[in-house]
Formats: sequence, structure tokens, C-alpha cells
Amino acid sequence: MARFSDARLIEVPSHWNIPELHGDQGSVGRWNQTKRKVLVLGVKKGLSCRPFYRSCDFVAPSQANGCAMACSYCYVARRKGYANPITTFVNIDDILGSVERHASRQGIKLEPTLADRDHWVYELGTNSDLSVDAAVSDNARDFVELFGGLPNAKATFATKLVNRDLLDYDPRGKTRVRFSLMPPETSKLVDVRTSRVEDRVLAINDFVEAGYEVNVNFGPVIVKDGWQSDYVELFEMLDAALSGAAKEQLAAEVIFLTHTEELHEVNLLWHPKGERLLWRPDIQEQKTSQASGDRVLRYEKGLKRRLVREFTDLLNVWLPYCEIRYAF
Ligand code: SF4
Repeated sequence: MARFSDARLIEVPSHWNIPELHGDQGSVGRWNQTKRKVLVLGVKKGLSCRPFYRSCDFVAPSQANGCAMACSYCYVARRKGYANPITTFVNIDDILGSVERHASRQGIKLEPTLADRDHWVYELGTNSDLSVDAAVSDNARDFVELFGGLPNAKATFATKLVNRDLLDYDPRGKTRVRFSLMPPETSKLVDVRTSRVEDRVLAINDFVEAGYEVNVNFGPVIVKDGWQSDYVELFEMLDAALSGAAKEQLAAEVIFLTHTEELHEVNLLWHPKGERLLWRPDIQEQKTSQASGDRVLRYEKGLKRRLVREFTDLLNVWLPYCEIRYAF
């Protein structure tokens, strides 16, 4: 309240369910205005670390939920109804303590996993973008510094924002930032309020120099006419921009788009143009997400298998030094 002295404080019984925010269909036209004007503060109740696979071994309890950016495919928004501003959790000491105790119980990692060979990897930003959260509070810094001191674990998060404040943190090689990348033209349409793709690419060397491990997340891959040549241009941009040190440690994950009917309906009310790319009933089918258990739309199975192969073949040709952690 000291920082935002003209802010109006409204007490609510639960940060999670605020009917006048998340339940008000009329507010969807103010989707981005709400992100600019509303900050929810809450106490995080569930503090357990959840096992996962692929990008991490465990998902850490969130230090925030929601986002000031507004990617129209955002899966966090799928659960938030008609508004998705940032909720910052104020009990960061409880959250950090829970993660630290969990990591200490794991002991040394003896077998490599998809996420990492040597360290247990904790995903930090499944419900928010840590680079934006870092502009709101010190929660992100606290996490980066905690992992810097843990002998057997590292943190990871994906981001679409270049927040150079993070360059002053002290990650000591124990935080893996994954810059999310897609062809700039597509990004301009669906990555609303994010940093430009070109700026994310240009930031990679600086983050490597500052002691971060930096990977890239090609996600979501959105299929449209000419997507292959768009990605070749993106790979060329990366190859031209990256330093030797950045290339040496580079790895990528590739995730094709999923969508939902509910989010499609919400998006039509505030950003219908993006739906021309995301909503493709002609080539999408329903499936149950392995990660969330939710019903989602994904590209038809046989088609997707071919798309994944085509993508990874292109990536191997244009960025042969880039390890592919997984592609699906
Ligand atoms: S940056 Fe991530 S959390 Fe934020 S709107 Fe985009 S997809 Fe959602």
C-alpha cells in the first residue's frame, strides 16, 4: 500500500474465487485493463511439491497465480473465468521453507531424468511468469537465491518477458530460464503484452553471462500456412544471435498448441483475431491432458505425430548443437 498509495484496498474472503472479478462476464472486455489495474494478494495454502516429468522433476508451490501479460492461448487463464490478473502470494517464507525441506528429503540424484542429469529440477512458474512477478515483489529473487544455495536441486521457469532486473540476482548456475519463442509474426498476434521475440533472443547471452542456464521453449507451436519457413527464420535468428557459451548449453523443449472450447469463447469476447490461428476444429480433436486431467483440444493424433517429426527434423538441421529435451 505504501508503494501504490492511491490503490483502493478491497478485502475478499478468498483470493481464488472473487465473483466480481473472475465471475463477471461483463469484465472480459476489460481483460487487459484488469491486468494493469488489479493486483490480488493472497496466502498460499497448499504448500506441497508435486512430482512431474518433462521440464522438471517436481512442481514447486506457486509464489503467484495469474499474469500481467495476456497470451491468448494461456492455460492459466483457462481456470480463471473472465479475468486473470496477478495474484501474489505473501507467505513466501512458508513456500520457500516447504521447497527447501522437500529438496533436502530427496538426497543426491543418482539417475538422470528428462529434466536434468545431476540435479532435481523444480518448476517455479506453472501459474505465472516469474519475470513479471519479479517486477511486483521479491518472491522470484528469493526463489533464485534459495536454489543457488541448494546442493542437489535447481529451479526452472519459462518466460516471455525480458526483465533485466534478474541479471542482478545471483543464480550460481542453479536456475534454468526457458525463453519461450515462436515466429515473431505469430507472436505479435497471440503473445499479447509480452516482450518481442527478437528481444527475448537477444537477452539469452546476457542471462548466460549472469550465471543462468538458458534454454528455449518452442511453445506453443501453432500450425498455419508456411509455419515451417517461419520457424527456419526463427532458428536462423537464434543461430546468428547466440554466443558460443550460449550455444554450448542450449537445449529446447517443443510443445504443440492445445486449446479449450471455454477459453475460445472467452477470447472471442476480447481478442477474436487470435482465434483465427488457435481455433482450428478442422485439424483439432479433443483429448484429456496428461498434465492437468482437463479436456483440451490438440492437433489430430496422426497429424501431430507428423508435425512433431517435421519440427524436430528442421531443428536438428538448423540448430544441430541444440539438444531436444522433448517434443510433443
Ligand atoms: S506469459 Fe505465460 S502465464 Fe503469462 S499470459 Fe502468457 S502464457 Fe500465460
